[in-house]
This record gives sequence, structure tokens and C-alpha cells, in this order.
Amino acid sequence: MVKIGVLGLQGAVREHVRAIEESGAEALVIKKVEQLEEIDGIIIPGGESTTMRRLIDKYHFLEPLKDFAAQGKPMFGTCAGLILLAKNIVDYAEPHLGVMDVTVERNSFGRQKESFEADLAIADVADDFNAVFIRAPHIVKAGENVQVLAKHEGRIVAAREGRYLGCSFHPELTDDHRMTAYFVKMVEEAKTKQFA
Ligand code: GLN
Repeated sequence: MVKIGVLGLQGAVREHVRAIEESGAEALVIKKVEQLEEIDGIIIPGGESTTMRRLIDKYHFLEPLKDFAAQGKPMFGTCAGLILLAKNIVDYAEPHLGVMDVTVERNSFGRQKESFEADLAIADVADDFNAVFIRAPHIVKAGENVQVLAKHEGRIVAAREGRYLGCSFHPELTDDHRMTAYFVKMVEEAKTKQFA
């Protein structure tokens, strides 16, 4: 069984733990850098990206998370987590982790900015996924190796680049765990390859 961490500095942590466990993997809330050694993949949850970045700096997580990425271990960023993974952020000079080849724009759903739900078709995941968006970002530009998994009103809201997965919405807030299960499968595949 693979073990998946949820970065536990801020945001929707418990809900992700439940979604991971219900998808057949072991979950661990990551509060200390040393715990990164115990896990096969990590979810960076939604919350508030600037606050999460402040806590990442405070607890010295930035370099260890970049090293985690460099080791080839899968990472899944949801909402603020997607902003943390992105290589480019509109109107920001520097990214946070800067590992996934996408440009994201924060709080970018106009009138629907605060929150809304939408039924999405997500490639390889679900035809009818009820997605919860809360002050959500979207992907304005995806690099050539990025597979667009879902769009809402013409905007990219879920994408995968190899071992990186990102989505604008909160897959942990409903009982539909198919998006999390997709990530669990990515982690299982990466682990198999590592030992092949
Ligand atoms: N608006 C938040 C940010 O920019 C993200 C919101 C969320 O994670 N639900 O970080």
C-alpha cells in the first residue's frame, strides 16, 4: 500500500486524509520536514497560498519540497496547492515551488469568485464530477508536456504533467473520491517504476 502525505500547515487537511484512506492508501499529515522521507507522494491542499507560503518558509519546507519533487515523487496541488506547484503566477515575479509547467491566475472566476459548484468531465477520471470551487485559480497557460484534464467555461481547471497533478477545485470536499483515486494510482505507478 502506498503512503501519501498531506501538507498539514494550513487548509483542508483532514478531508484529504479521509479521501486518501477511502481511496485505498495510507495517509500521513505532514507537519515536519523529516516526515517527507516516509511518504511516496504528497497532496498540497487548498487554503490561502500566500499564508501557506509563509508557513512553508517558517518551517523550512521550501527546499525539502523541491527535493521531494526532484526525487520523482508525485505531487498533487488542489486550489492554493496548485498555485504553490505552478512555475508561473500571473502578476507575481517569482513562483513558490515552481515545479509544474503551468501559469495560474489567482481568484480568477469573476462574479463567481467566492464559490460555486460545477459538473465537470475530467479526462481519465470521471464524466460527471461535481467540483467545488472556492476563490479558485485557473490555469491560463499549460506547457507542451501538460495534459489538460478538464475545463470549465473554456478555462483549464485540472491538468497533469507527468508526476504532477493540479486542479482548481476542492476534490476532498465531496464524497466523490475519483480525483484522489486517480492520484493514488499515479503514486502507485511511480513507486513501481522506482523499484523496477
Ligand atoms: N484564493 C486562494 C489563493 O489564492 C486559493 C483558494 C483555495 O485554496 N480555496 O491562495
